[in-house]
Amino acid sequence: MYKSDIKQLADELIKTRRLSGEKFEQLLTHRDVVKKEIQQSAKAVTTKSFHRTLYVRGLIEISNYCRNNCFYCGIRRDNDYVSRYRLTKDEILKSVRLGTDMGFKTFVLQGGEDPGLSDAFLMDVLDSIHHINPEAAITLSIGEKDTATLEAYKSHGADRFLLRHETKNRDHYYQLHPETMSLENRLRALSDLKALGYQTGSGIMVGTPGQTYATLAEDLVYLHELQPEMVGIGPFIPAKHTPFENEPAGSVELTLFLLCVLRLMFPKANIPATTSLNTLSKTGRDDAITYACNVYMPNLTPPRHRKDYALYDDKACFKIEAAENLDDLKAIMKGLGREVVMDRGDFHV
Ligand code: SF4
Repeated sequence: MYKSDIKQLADELIKTRRLSGEKFEQLLTHRDVVKKEIQQSAKAVTTKSFHRTLYVRGLIEISNYCRNNCFYCGIRRDNDYVSRYRLTKDEILKSVRLGTDMGFKTFVLQGGEDPGLSDAFLMDVLDSIHHINPEAAITLSIGEKDTATLEAYKSHGADRFLLRHETKNRDHYYQLHPETMSLENRLRALSDLKALGYQTGSGIMVGTPGQTYATLAEDLVYLHELQPEMVGIGPFIPAKHTPFENEPAGSVELTLFLLCVLRLMFPKANIPATTSLNTLSKTGRDDAITYACNVYMPNLTPPRHRKDYALYDDKACFKIEAAENLDDLKAIMKGLGREVVMDRGDFHV
């Protein structure tokens, strides 16, 4: 393809916020030609949508048990090296109280698909969080649930749900997941979440084994169809004691480019800068925030359990990852021209 053709694709994306799968594939393949233009356009869109604001969400990792066995995941069921924990209701609420005192108005309850976390338990926790902090928005990130369960969580005050689709391509899906899992069920859950009125988050890891520019293009087309209110992407990082432990990590450069493409596709979506960017690159997180991201998720999990929630190796336990170091985060973000804001940070069209 000629350089002028690639520039035309970038212009089309900037103007129309979408491309066909074939065009996305070409754009990704030849991204060097238009990288600067895409970055600057994404930065302009981020600034227009969020001004200098960076929303923070208090992350509480409630359980590292999981019934699934995704090949890439450090807390997969068959990893016997993981020290398993499940927070009690009191521990979760203690984290919520701590976050509330610090000014947090959004809490993200994240965990594996843990059969030990009953629906009754979770609904009780949702009720209690609202009792402690009636203004707070609650995000769940606890895997695939059936339609009735998602409906029940919603009626108990869950506002948002994060569920990365990971890949839209069926062959690729089964390179990442065992046959016992189902791409259809993942997509069904995402479509349920939208239909039930959740602010819905999806996304992918960049650089997983078997991923190609063509599968990434399918992901972007799918995300355009889904129209998520949140999009989470980060580079793949191999985790020890998993089938992918010797695979190479994903590219920070490609992740940053995709974050910019996603910002152009979804000007108002909440897009977090993920820890994995910082694990692989000293500047990854800051670049992501400079160009495309508007959310950061400091960790409110009880400190003694944080090292056990390792989805991949060398999880960056940087000082500002810890919610108790919020002042440091504020200072660093100020250096990037961003102001940390403790609002709910709901999605608005
Ligand atoms: S990625 Fe999620 S569903 Fe898969 S094994 Fe890890 S925690 Fe479980």
